Amino acid sequence: MKTSLHGTGCGDSCCLRVQNLSVHIGSDQILSDVNLHVHCGELAALIGPNGAGKSTFLKAVLGQREYEGIIVFSAPGQRGRKPKIGYVPQSPTFDPGDPVSVADLFVCCQSRRPAFLGCSKAMREKILDCLDRVHATELIDKRVGSLSGGELQRVLLALALEPIPNILILDEPLSGVDVEGQSGLMDMLDEIRNTYDLSILMTTHDFSMLPRYADQVVLIDRKVLAAGSAEEVLASEAFQTVFHRQGGAAK
Ligand code: ADP
Ligand code: MG
Repeated sequence: MKTSLHGTGCGDSCCLRVQNLSVHIGSDQILSDVNLHVHCGELAALIGPNGAGKSTFLKAVLGQREYEGIIVFSAPGQRGRKPKIGYVPQSPTFDPGDPVSVADLFVCCQSRRPAFLGCSKAMREKILDCLDRVHATELIDKRVGSLSGGELQRVLLALALEPIPNILILDEPLSGVDVEGQSGLMDMLDEIRNTYDLSILMTTHDFSMLPRYADQVVLIDRKVLAAGSAEEVLASEAFQTVFHRQGGAAK
């Protein structure tokens, strides 16, 4: 496998070019020859049926999965350093009875201090600043297990944004979020992308969001079946075949 980076002239965001990416797990070929180019400041959506290899693709990009092929980050100003990647994993679950608060979660993830010692005043201020980026300061003392799907995604997004990354990778952030919450979350991603000059790569099953928010959509089922604008991919024969839809209607 080969991962590299070089400079470009694209603000603080980061381009990602994936070439001929293949992943095997044991004898099972999970992905074959996947190509994808997320341009600087772009929101790219990866779609496909369950088991298509979407999460596996993201894990390869994150360096958590062995692969064959080439992954190139073009991060201006990084000068040989790896770009900062923010990652929101697919549907982490928290026990509703778990006493862990949002502040505790930040302390666990962002400081060496054990959460049971509580949170210093300076740390609390920092957590509030992080939550403010996703307009969620009111959640700081809520138990993580009691959050709605949309609230949890905001908290996870706030965690992924500290420090501000060059590229943000989200695995099905819209799952478990109601329809109103979904457009709220997509509006927020759009705002964050513009404010912090990020590139975003996300997976989703919520196709109705794509025409409005995605610059590029790639349909995979272990290999690339269609790629292009949301309109092109949703109208493609491959999309209709995979999702058994007529006329390319979006979900
Ligand atoms: P998606 O995110 O599109 O639903 P995944 O990337 O999670 O798909 O999984 C793609 C395929 O790879 C599935 O068949 C899944 O069973 C398999 N797979 C994923 N992770 C592992 C693993 N750690 N060990 C064995 N098989 C795996
Ligand atoms: Mg997945």
